[in-house]
Amino acid sequence: MNKVTLKRKIGNRIMNGHPWIFANEVEKVEGTPAQGDIVEVFFHDNKFLGKGYYNSQSQIIVRLLTREKGIEVNDDFFLKKLQKCWQYRQKLGYTENCRLVFGEADGIPQLIIDKFNDYFVIQTIAFGIDVWKPALVKALEQLFKPKGIFERNDVPVRELEGLPQQKGFLSAPFDTRILINENGLKFYVDIENGQKTGYFLDQQDNRKAIKHIVKGSDVLGAFTYTGTFEIHAAAYGAKSVLGLDISANAVAQANKNAELNGLSHIVKFEVANAFDVLKQWGKEDKKWDVVMLDPPAFTKSRATIEKAITGYKEINLRGMKLLKKGGFLVTSSCTNLVNPELFLKIIDMAAKDAKRKIRQVLFQTQSPDHPIVWNMENTHYLKFLIIEVE
Ligand code: SAH
Repeated sequence: MNKVTLKRKIGNRIMNGHPWIFANEVEKVEGTPAQGDIVEVFFHDNKFLGKGYYNSQSQIIVRLLTREKGIEVNDDFFLKKLQKCWQYRQKLGYTENCRLVFGEADGIPQLIIDKFNDYFVIQTIAFGIDVWKPALVKALEQLFKPKGIFERNDVPVRELEGLPQQKGFLSAPFDTRILINENGLKFYVDIENGQKTGYFLDQQDNRKAIKHIVKGSDVLGAFTYTGTFEIHAAAYGAKSVLGLDISANAVAQANKNAELNGLSHIVKFEVANAFDVLKQWGKEDKKWDVVMLDPPAFTKSRATIEKAITGYKEINLRGMKLLKKGGFLVTSSCTNLVNPELFLKIIDMAAKDAKRKIRQVLFQTQSPDHPIVWNMENTHYLKFLIIEVE
């Protein structure tokens, strides 16, 4: 067996249950592990720590899969893991659509599997999990008898692992524009060409949270993607809804989704740069009862965190300025680099600049099919806030 021994001084992170081992924490590697091989990891005093996948090309040289010595990592290991993931989601009531596997939070580092009813989308972002793709497909077939499985590995971070970016079928080909139900509404999901895995399942409970505040309101949504929040608003009784996204493709999909739900007389989507348009409408003193913002992560690295802070502050400031007195701002942030405390601070700064008084209505996170593991910061990433703006 290939063996990795850690230095005497290692981060508390590892003791606290975090599965990543950085190259500079390793004292020696015995044997000749190839990229993606399973290695056994030992503390400096030769006490067993766990087993995980090895990649000498990555700064994260080992990602632990288990801390139990007796457990073999084989096809059956992954079948049992997926079974456990599915039991958890079922227990919480996510039977139709859910994130079936949320990487580190489910003990399978860098694996994402989204379930869209009978269809599955897989991302294997590290070398060590990529090699188990056939086992994962076999396990899905055994557990779900899926109508289709698709790989969305067209993600740049794979290159840090020495893996190519790619996407394609892992089952017999099928029509990749599928239909899902969420909260009683229907949405097309383009699992081949949509963003990420095609759909943002992490906001599914948050979309329900706007139910009461949008009733009878004029609603403006920005960063709408395929229009999920806005179509919910229309279904929950909004008077009018306008949605904006910079992607023409997303807007076309959003308008189709509105039609699909028989709500196109209430909700319309337009292609626009939200930063420019919101600023312009602010100058024109246009007002809405509810403004909803769900921007992309403005940065991917801690080094450029200032960029994210500026982006969130700017867009929330512009959103607040468009609200009538007593209106509601519904705002999200999807990067773990901005923690909940910092996010609230940014909103507070935006309110002060906008000279508006705010009151928190609700503050929550991603839906529980994306569980959060304490001491693994990147598992707690979504902030969803509703404030009343005086
Ligand atoms: N609310 C959506 C997810 C939004 S993802 C949902 O729940 O499904 C972020 C979206 O912001 C993407 O669709 C992207 O195209 C869009 N976007 C990025 N920059 C933008 C900008 N400057 N103006 C408008 N939309 C933008």
